[in-house]
Amino acid sequence: MCAERSMEETLVLDAHCDSLILRHVRGDPVDLTDENPVYQVDLSRLRKGGVDCLFCMVGDYDLGQSSVLIDAAYEMCRMHADDLQICRTASEVRAANAGGRIAIVLTIEGQKMLGERIEHLRNLHRLGVRVANLTHGGGGRPELQYDVSYFGFIAPQERESLRRQSKGLTPFAWEALAEMARLRMPVDLAHINDAAFWEVLDIAECPVCYTHGCCYALCPHSRGLTDEMMVALAAKGGVMGIAFYRKFIHQTDPSLDRLCDQFVHAIEVMGPDHVGIGSDFDGTERLLYPIPEDVSQLGILFEALGKRGVDKVTLRKLAGDNFLRILEA
Ligand SMILES: [Zn+2]
Repeated sequence: MCAERSMEETLVLDAHCDSLILRHVRGDPVDLTDENPVYQVDLSRLRKGGVDCLFCMVGDYDLGQSSVLIDAAYEMCRMHADDLQICRTASEVRAANAGGRIAIVLTIEGQKMLGERIEHLRNLHRLGVRVANLTHGGGGRPELQYDVSYFGFIAPQERESLRRQSKGLTPFAWEALAEMARLRMPVDLAHINDAAFWEVLDIAECPVCYTHGCCYALCPHSRGLTDEMMVALAAKGGVMGIAFYRKFIHQTDPSLDRLCDQFVHAIEVMGPDHVGIGSDFDGTERLLYPIPEDVSQLGILFEALGKRGVDKVTLRKLAGDNFLRILEA
């Protein structure tokens, strides 16, 4: 049976995609039905890749930008209502899929746009934003962490001493996390510094996830989680999305095989219920094509994972069911 066939009944969910914001920044139509080979995601390639649910990032900077991107997402879904639908919950995703539509879930990257006003978080939630991370990596109060996140390859001892020197969450971060707990809105820990990561895991009561990153044990990049962090995330019911960015996959030899290593390692460390996909399509350096190189190629990943011995039940979970769980009301 070919890979596409065997995945037919499987819900496929990509937990991080920057295509809308990249199109906006470049002045192109903020519309996934606009087919432009310069992007890694569009409607026909989502269909070819068998994607049922796409987390679309709609803002990392200010409220004006988020407002424009959220409107664009709704307009896109209104104009192409047979193909795309904004969804807020797992049951809405399932209903959209039953009707043959791809579910679009709105997410934000960082909470800089809130300007430390919790009202804006509530309003974004009312508009359908369902996953929010705390920072896009910067430091200072609007980033919700005091110190910047290191970005790059880093040795374990250096990483550990940096964690000890770093200051974590700001008071507004605690306020936001409490509100997210009340709303049952998952917090995304991608980009956060290690000190803040542990503060969230130790104390936060909202659902947790890490939408796009890799395993530090296999690639010493700061955007990889250590095994210890992965175990703690899983213990809290969290899900980690493995990213397709070459620099996160392997330091010297990024390839489909090394990407499979990332999935296999994450499954070993966290168990089958806590691993998913967070491609970061259209979110990384143009010259470093992700692996797989666009969303239409997702089938090659599932096929390769199957060959690596990942059983069908586990494959189904990591393809989408695990991330869908965090949207259960
Ligand atoms: Zn990111």
